[in-house]
Amino acid sequence: MSAMEKKSASVIVIGGGVTGLSAAWWLARDGVDVLVIEKGIVGWEASGRNGGGCTHYQSPLFDEEQRLWPQMDELLGYPTEYRRERVIMALTDAQLAQYQDHGDICARMGYHYETLDAKQTRELVPLAGDNVVGAVHYHFGGQANPQRSVQAYAWALQDKGGRILQHTAVSSIVTKGGRVTGVETSLGRFDCDHLVLAAGPQTGALLDTIGIYLPVAPARAEMIVTEPLPLMRIGGVDGNGLYGRQTLRGNLAYGGGPHEWLEDTGPDGRTAAGGIAARPASQLLQNLSKRLVELFPRAAHVRVIRSWAGIIENTPDGRPVIDRLDEPGNLTVATMSSVGFGLSPAAGHAIRDLVMEGRCSFTDIDKLGLDRFANLPRDWRARQGWVPPVLSDFATPARLPA
Ligand SMILES: Cc1cc2nc3c(=O)[nH]c(=O)nc-3n(C[C@H](O)[C@H](O)[C@H](O)COP(=O)(O)OP(=O)(O)OC[C@H]3O[C@@H](n4cnc5c(N)ncnc54)[C@H](O)[C@@H]3O)c2cc1C
Repeated sequence: MSAMEKKSASVIVIGGGVTGLSAAWWLARDGVDVLVIEKGIVGWEASGRNGGGCTHYQSPLFDEEQRLWPQMDELLGYPTEYRRERVIMALTDAQLAQYQDHGDICARMGYHYETLDAKQTRELVPLAGDNVVGAVHYHFGGQANPQRSVQAYAWALQDKGGRILQHTAVSSIVTKGGRVTGVETSLGRFDCDHLVLAAGPQTGALLDTIGIYLPVAPARAEMIVTEPLPLMRIGGVDGNGLYGRQTLRGNLAYGGGPHEWLEDTGPDGRTAAGGIAARPASQLLQNLSKRLVELFPRAAHVRVIRSWAGIIENTPDGRPVIDRLDEPGNLTVATMSSVGFGLSPAAGHAIRDLVMEGRCSFTDIDKLGLDRFANLPRDWRARQGWVPPVLSDFATPARLPA
């Protein structure tokens, strides 16, 4: 039987997004026999479709995110196109004050930022226009290419002996005597000593197969890509409700609200009605394009050449869940609540620590525990207003949220 046909592993990871791949790579570096089971192809969901931002100062994983990204190309042995620094442009004085508040939080943690006036902003960001009021310039943070990063994780994992099984859906988790013994898949049963569940928006539905409740709501978000423009010195420039980056080829790749809440999905990622709508909608594309032109008036002449939608996984408080459960004690759960790309190097490290040592070695992740939702009412989505729109809400552009 070949290594790929072996229907067991010391650690099985469900989900070949950046969280699962990074966790598997960290484990494989320690010589662990690890198998990633992915229902589609690696990175096909949010992990390959996101804005590439790596600047999450609200997270307990922030220091590790900032420490690791500048080393990732070398550690993985493949390019992620990571570039350091980030600029947040303000189109109003109130926005500038708000961004400075965020910069001050980072400064208190030891990260350097500076405020730029309008002229300095236009010098640093040649596509900015006369409408810019100023900017904050982070000398930390940054952005990487999501597709290159997914590929880099996958190749690096395989280089260390890890296995990836694509086009294989996990339908349920198998337990015996209070421990996980394996998973049922479209290719039959696979056994493991430890299970890492990193299935993005489907994490909750898979946990539900063993009676554990994890609240996670899927939402559709969109990105647009323009024709290439001359490269700016800094690739990561945000503002006007948009996040994204200039690719190394020069395209502007941007996304950012409004997001559309979707129905809950089952373990296979499908809704009761049979599908999830990860497809772009023209009204949202117009909204993104309009705001991109406001952010970069000197790019108003270029055309939008591509767009796509992706599904974002959201927990009720917007923070990831990264937790090794008490029971089953050999199950580690990770769902990243919309910040999973940037945090992936650090999240993988934390998951490796939980699997190997039972605790995170480099930071306190207690507030990422699943038990914080123990008393959450099951109708939390309705209470928070996180419910799918009535189709007629999207019938006319006039009904779109601003
Ligand atoms: C448009 C957009 C922009 C974003 N921008 C940013 C950003 O700038 N910065 C940032 O940090 N984050 C961003 N995010 C969020 C980020 O992409 C996600 O948090 C991150 O990719 C989550 O990674 P993951 O591996 O946990 O989940 P996913 O990427 O969702 O991967 C989970 C994988 O599990 C697989 N799977 C699910 N169910 C099963 C099953 N039953 N059996 C087998 N496999 C299964 C899926 O096929 C999928 O490949 C953005 C997301 C979107 C959609």
